[in-house]
Amino acid sequence: MSRVSTADVAIIGGGVIGAVCARAAAERGLHTVVFEPGPDPAAASAASAGMLAAQIEPTDQLLLGLGVRSRDHYEPLAAALKDTTGIDIGFWRGGIASVALADAEVDQLREYVALQRQAGLRCDWLEPGDVHERWPTAAPECVGALYAPEDGAVDPQALTRALLADARRLGAALVSEPVEEIRIADGRVTGVRAAGSTVAAERVVLAAGAWSPRLKGLPRDLPIEPVRGQMAMTPWPADTPPAILYHIRHGYVLARGGDAILGSTMEHAGFEGKVTNEGLAQIFRSAVRLLPALASLTVSRSWAGLRPVTPDGRPILGPDPDVAGLYYATGHGRNGVLLAALTGEVIGDLLTKGETDVDLAPLSPTRSFPEIPEPDILTPDT
Ligand SMILES: Cc1cc2nc3c(=O)[nH]c(=O)nc-3n(C[C@H](O)[C@H](O)[C@H](O)COP(=O)(O)OP(=O)(O)OC[C@H]3O[C@@H](n4cnc5c(N)ncnc54)[C@H](O)[C@@H]3O)c2cc1C
Repeated sequence: MSRVSTADVAIIGGGVIGAVCARAAAERGLHTVVFEPGPDPAAASAASAGMLAAQIEPTDQLLLGLGVRSRDHYEPLAAALKDTTGIDIGFWRGGIASVALADAEVDQLREYVALQRQAGLRCDWLEPGDVHERWPTAAPECVGALYAPEDGAVDPQALTRALLADARRLGAALVSEPVEEIRIADGRVTGVRAAGSTVAAERVVLAAGAWSPRLKGLPRDLPIEPVRGQMAMTPWPADTPPAILYHIRHGYVLARGGDAILGSTMEHAGFEGKVTNEGLAQIFRSAVRLLPALASLTVSRSWAGLRPVTPDGRPILGPDPDVAGLYYATGHGRNGVLLAALTGEVIGDLLTKGETDVDLAPLSPTRSFPEIPEPDILTPDT
């Protein structure tokens, strides 16, 4: 255990969300300590595809707005992190195509395109000929695509590493121990307990992903479930321009460097962060459907991670209404990389100014959550 005994802010968790909050706090001059024991082998951030897919499934208007706003932070953030840490976060703004593989999907995607254009966002409908002109080896049965030219991706591992490195450069301390308990007295946070010692802190940010509800001392239950996503990697097919091709039910393929990242499943499997034959079979079937040239390529890696998912798919972000100094930055579900940049800004502003221009009521830990629907065991998703 480090010799840190007091801090302005203690951050629980050093995934992408804890890392972005640590950097935001340290940048604002707060003496910050991040507790991250692992990361846990099943943590979400390292497993993520890293898509900045703000406009692909705009079924939740609130998440669409937050996602677009967060995505637009990435260009300057990538440049700033490269400048200060030398780490390239792999920011790529080459657009994402959500392809229709059956006529029945066309109307829905066209409706999404129209809605987004009405909202002033750039979003196009590509006819099958346009899709095949851009990506000649894409699914032959493709009947069109929603194309979000400003969506893209980052390398989530590089992003987390760069955020933590920058937080440390700005003075944050990293402690390689799990927090055992959040300490609260008289309606105020007083610190955290880790490795048998207490670190005094007037502000604590809970950013422990799927493990957040397990922290001792929390003043309330948090409705966050681990939802497993399996992934695989192969080389990106030669003579195919880099792309992110997505299908609402059949997963996605994403070019990163010379590799293709194939994803993913949505599985309620508790805290088992393992890959299975069934999960991988589904991913391969889907990926080959989107990009048939993948069929003959060798699988170089497979892995899985646990998304921290709330019943309404929105993060839990903001202060606890009853405990002064306790903040939540958790439950980012399928969009934690996308929403990380904005999450850092919100937490940084709350810690220093006590307010933010983001409406936090729909993200409050005390909002009313819908009943959790019976899960599909293997639903492809981000
Ligand atoms: C397969 C997959 C694909 C995904 N694809 C995308 C995508 O394309 N785009 C996107 O935006 N999002 C995507 N996501 C979602 C995104 O990865 C997550 O929302 C995000 O990484 C959550 O970050 P986090 O920091 O909250 O959680 P995590 O990364 O899980 O980090 C939580 C950390 O808390 C630590 N911890 C746990 N308990 C304690 C404790 N007691 N004390 C201290 N630390 C503790 C753990 O070790 C862990 O490192 C994907 C997720 C998965 C699994």
